[in-house]
Parts: sequence; C-alpha cells; structure tokens
Amino acid sequence: MIFGLAGKNASGKGTVAEILKTGGFEYFSLSDEIRLALAERGIEPTRDAMTEEGNRIRHAEGAGALATRVLHRFSQGINQVVDSVRNPEEVRVLRTCQNFFLISVDAPVEVRFERLRQRGRAGDPVTIEGFLTAEERELAGGDPAAQQLIATMKLADYTINNGTDVEALTAAVKNVFRDAASKLERPSWDEYFMQIAEVIATRSNCAKRRVAAVVVKDCRIISTGYNGTPRGTTNCSSGGCPRCLSLVPSGEALGECVCSHAEENSITQAAYHGVSLKGSSIYSTFMPCVMCTKMIINAGISEVVYRSAYPLPASARDLFRQAGVLTRQIG
Ligand SMILES: [Zn+2]
Ligand SMILES: [Zn+2]
Repeated sequence: MIFGLAGKNASGKGTVAEILKTGGFEYFSLSDEIRLALAERGIEPTRDAMTEEGNRIRHAEGAGALATRVLHRFSQGINQVVDSVRNPEEVRVLRTCQNFFLISVDAPVEVRFERLRQRGRAGDPVTIEGFLTAEERELAGGDPAAQQLIATMKLADYTINNGTDVEALTAAVKNVFRDAASKLERPSWDEYFMQIAEVIATRSNCAKRRVAAVVVKDCRIISTGYNGTPRGTTNCSSGGCPRCLSLVPSGEALGECVCSHAEENSITQAAYHGVSLKGSSIYSTFMPCVMCTKMIINAGISEVVYRSAYPLPASARDLFRQAGVLTRQIG
C-alpha cells in the first residue's frame, strides 16, 4: 500500500506521516528530493528556494518528475508514505503503482497559523495575512508545472480534517488505513497462475520460443514445465535442437524437433514425482499443440487456460471438445 500526502502548510501532514511510520510505513517526501537537489547545488533550503527548485525540476523534467525520482527508492513488499505531493501530475505518476491512495490533510486557517507560530521556524510568516499571501502561490497558478495544491487535493481518495488534536488525527488515520486495506488489489487466480507461468518461461532453453505451463488443482500448483531439450542433453540454445536453430517457419518440421513442450514437461514432471493430474487445470502461456492436446486429455486434465493463440489445427480444438476438456483464453 502506498499513501501520498497532500495538504496546506501546517495542516499536519508531517504528523500523519509520523503515525504511519510508527505503523511500519517506509517514509519518503517529495520535498526531500528538492532538498537533495539543492544540496547538490550548494543552496540553502529556505522555503522560497525549495519552491523555486521544485518548479525548476518540474519544468526541466516534467511536472511529475519528483514523484518519478521517489518511485525508484521504494523497497519491495512493504507500505510506503510519500509526503508533500503538490502537483496533479505527481499523483498521476504515483497512481501507476498498484494500491496507491492519496490523502488530503486539511485544517482551518487559524489553526494552521497557530501551529506555524508555535513551530517558530525561521523565515515563516509572522502575521496571518503574510501566511495567506505566502500560501496563495502554492495553492494554484497558471503554470501547470508549479505547485498546484488545490487541484492536487481534489484528487484525494481520502480527506482528513485535522482541526483538533493528535488523538483524533490518529483515529482518522487508522480509519483510512483500514478502509484502504479493504480495497487492496491483487491478481485473480487466473492472472496469478499465468504470471507464474510467464516467469517459468524465462527459464526455457529453446532458441525458438519460450513457453511454460503450470498445472493447478484446488488453487495449488502441483507441477510446472518449460520447453527445451530433454534433461541431461545439450540445451536447444546451445545447438541441441538443429531444427529450432535453423529458423524454420513456426509449425514446420516439428517431427525433427527434439525439444519437449512446456505442457509435455509439466505432465512428465508430475509422472517423475508420481503425482496424478486428474481433474486439474493447466495454465499455458501458449495454446497447446496437437501432441500436447492428446497428452493433456489422457493425463485427465479437465481445463486448459492459455494466454497466446498458436496456429492450432482445428483437429486439436475438436479433440478437446470431444473429450470434454474446457479451454479458455485469457488476455
Ligand atoms: Zn528448441
Ligand atoms: Zn506442444
């Protein structure tokens, strides 16, 4: 899960980030990207310099550039919070990640000004008028590459009004977390097994085509296979299969091919371990050929799910139909 935080000055974004950090979130800030850029150029990170540098980077590299930089820093498999999202294009970039949610944090202007005064940071405005004038520049403007806080906050999936105390804020953050957790997306079973098959295909040693199959029963994998020359023989890619290395058109001279097919290997792997495939489903990255069709039927496999079509003769389809084996293509 990835949370982006957008909010006006002293709205409490930092406290929201702290609450999430305590809960195990990895912390990033688009402002830190600007600070790093300023440090590289030896410039003091005052509020004005930060705004200017942020706008300069967005102009030079695109309005979503700061978000693109931060994406590369994410660790895999854990939750992230990205503070200081200030441009709609940054939101668009972050939404390319699965399970991204934008939280807008807001509070009444008097409350925010009071927080700012108590913080007492050098360079902060000392009157509420000065505070509002400084804020004006961050909220909206004609320049799409500049800070566009109002437009950004409008894209929020969640809005937290932080007008009272930390206890109320903590409760609100926990509610948002629970709701987002209930919306987490994950692949369907079909996608899950097909994606696994696609990873297995990368291990194929065939010079001509990389195919893999995963055999599944009760949503559990019981066998896998990828195409290539038989175990203990020279790999296809190293010259083990002269037919595959001769650039023959697809489907021709199949009788001379010494590569085993992925479906064939998933069935023989099950035989190797003495596992029955009766009533299972086979996920194959390609539609099976006639030879594999026969083996699938006789192994007792009841369903074939494939990704890419193969120039399959009508006879194979007819065999599946007659044998009562279901076939499905998934996108
Ligand atoms: Zn081959
Ligand atoms: Zn085959």
